Amino acid sequence: MNPFHDLAPPYLELRDRARALAAKCAPLAQRADESDSVDEEVRGLLSGSGLAAIQVPRAYGGHFEQPDSLAVTIVREHLAGESGHLDSLFAMQGIGSYAISVGGSEEIRRQWLPKIATMEAIAALALTEPDVGSDLKALSTTITADGDELVVTGSKSFITNGGDASYYCVLGKEEVDGRTGYSLVLVPAGTPGVSTNRPHQIMAPHVLGDIAFDGARVPAGNRLGLPGKGFALVLATLATFRVSVAGAAIGTAQAALDDALAHTTSREQFGGPLVRLGPVPQLLAMSWTEIEMARAFTYQVAQAAAADAAGNLHFSSMAKVGATEVAGRVVDRSVQVMGRFGLVRGSRIERLYRAARPMRVYEGATEVLLDALSKQLIKGHTS
Ligand SMILES: Cc1cc2nc3c(=O)[nH]c(=O)nc-3n(C[C@H](O)[C@H](O)[C@H](O)COP(=O)(O)OP(=O)(O)OC[C@H]3O[C@@H](n4cnc5c(N)ncnc54)[C@H](O)[C@@H]3O)c2cc1C
Repeated sequence: MNPFHDLAPPYLELRDRARALAAKCAPLAQRADESDSVDEEVRGLLSGSGLAAIQVPRAYGGHFEQPDSLAVTIVREHLAGESGHLDSLFAMQGIGSYAISVGGSEEIRRQWLPKIATMEAIAALALTEPDVGSDLKALSTTITADGDELVVTGSKSFITNGGDASYYCVLGKEEVDGRTGYSLVLVPAGTPGVSTNRPHQIMAPHVLGDIAFDGARVPAGNRLGLPGKGFALVLATLATFRVSVAGAAIGTAQAALDDALAHTTSREQFGGPLVRLGPVPQLLAMSWTEIEMARAFTYQVAQAAAADAAGNLHFSSMAKVGATEVAGRVVDRSVQVMGRFGLVRGSRIERLYRAARPMRVYEGATEVLLDALSKQLIKGHTS
């Protein structure tokens, strides 16, 4: 037990439940991690674990008063080491429902959040468009009020759970009092005018879909937050969940180091174990050092985010950048010291290697986060 990772009993209990769930999913991981749709057996195990309840407020069937950044981070750490599919399914229940938790009407909360907690409903957050990624304010999807309805028109792309989600929280432009703002609206998947397809797949297969909204009409009560103020909910979501990507990255790196250590201590070459050869022990020790540094910082930031997510967003960005870059280096070193056995398609180490790469792009690419951090750093220095 590492003395620097003293977690309070409720978090230790969640960590143990996450470990148990990951162990149950291990035999399914190779299949699930190649799937472009939700693996129903993995969904059933996640549902049975009760862990999705930490993604919604207690008043609606959840675990904590509000979704808790530290809890989500710790659970993701232990799920991601075994299966990216499982980690993504768990993570999106929070990322795709937080706007409902903090910005939905009482009716909408009661309708959806208990189902998110039990995995009966699958959540999604639709921001990215075919031509717009990091520069979200350039999006072109429109939301128009028409009597007691909202009309959504546009296209979203690379949406996690796209095609399998029960609803989409959609960000679009809306004219409010003669000015263009950005609004968020919940569109149930079965709404006429909503269609999905799956034109893309990535190196670490993911449940990814593109969604077209062709004048899709929903009741005005499906609005999340205030008209023209949807970005505030998106930012609140990122502030709460960004640090959890660091948790997933640490779990990915730890699993890769575990595999590299197991392999290099058991395989013999040149009359002894690989772990005694040349730079191999130093590479492993460097991976260990980087993981422990990333984990200590991430836990601290996640705890701070649980208390004040918006006030600690810059630290969450640092944790996300730091831990995902560490994961990239650790999986690469681990594959290298495992030689050809690190390259075998479908092996855990090969899945971890592929899973680590997209983490540096989604939920704020490394350079985008560094850009924001550098502005804050320089402003603090010059003001
Ligand atoms: C597995 C996966 C799941 C996803 N799930 C979702 C989802 O559920 N919902 C959703 O809405 N989207 C989702 N996305 C999309 C994701 O949010 C975008 O990929 C991300 O925002 C980056 O946008 P982009 O890919 O268009 O890259 P671009 O915006 O084209 O940027 C490309 C690169 O340019 C550089 N760059 C861009 N802007 C700057 C800047 N300001 N300063 C410095 N460098 C910069 C960075 O290196 C960046 O990686 C997902 C993507 C992936 C890969």
